Amino acid sequence: MSTARPAFTIGWLYPDLMNIYGDRGNILTLLKRADWRGYDARVVELGRGDTQEMDKVDLFFFGGGQDREQALVYDDLIHSKQVRLEDAVAGGAMVLAVCGGYQLLGHYYQTGEGERFPGIGLIDVRTEAGKRRFIGDVVADLVSLDAEPKTLVGFENHSGRTFLGPKAQPLARVRMGFGNNGQDGTEGCLQGGVLGTYLHGSLLPKNPHLADHLIRRALKRRGVEKLSQLDDSVELAAHQRIAERARGARPNPADLTRR
Ligand code: GLN
Repeated sequence: MSTARPAFTIGWLYPDLMNIYGDRGNILTLLKRADWRGYDARVVELGRGDTQEMDKVDLFFFGGGQDREQALVYDDLIHSKQVRLEDAVAGGAMVLAVCGGYQLLGHYYQTGEGERFPGIGLIDVRTEAGKRRFIGDVVADLVSLDAEPKTLVGFENHSGRTFLGPKAQPLARVRMGFGNNGQDGTEGCLQGGVLGTYLHGSLLPKNPHLADHLIRRALKRRGVEKLSQLDDSVELAAHQRIAERARGARPNPADLTRR
């Protein structure tokens, strides 16, 4: 009887270039929450030119990056990763993409200078930078994911305004902050196994319910049906602390948008 602990594989896209505002914390959270339950999660780093084991990955993570870093990765994303990512997602793998990574999984990202970085169209979204950067804490109500608490909290810092096409659903509705575009009140997107968000911070330490959603789906592919409960009192206290800030905030971001 093999004593190996059930395991899943995380594919970390461009860890050297697309990793800002604590994004690395998402990887650490996934590894720790798996380990605390007796599961192994291993990380395959997929920098430029790397495609090893992409067919074995259960969960891809794509962090954020400034325009300069996005300019350095979009070509590799198209030429060395796109087809393997599409195959992996079609085969049931998931993707968590934050901000700059989220933008490049869409049709394109256009910078404030008007330069357009083509995306891979894995999700039906398009992004164009505006003049004003959207910076600050975000509190949003989940709309496409059944989880408790029903909120997501995090930190945003982006010039891009992302608009969802018909195939992409919003992940959440903004209660405080700007979210996708500061106009339609949406935050992030969900399309098949791809989850995009503007939330840095990092995202998963203060949103253990989202981390568990991803771990549960990854382990399900490896035959694990049920995920045991962890004591998340500290994580949820941090979550609640940010969520409380939304009480005082002006709810509708549309009032705040001055391009
Ligand atoms: N460069 C992109 C923008 O400004 C993404 C920034 C980020 O990942 N935080 O919108």
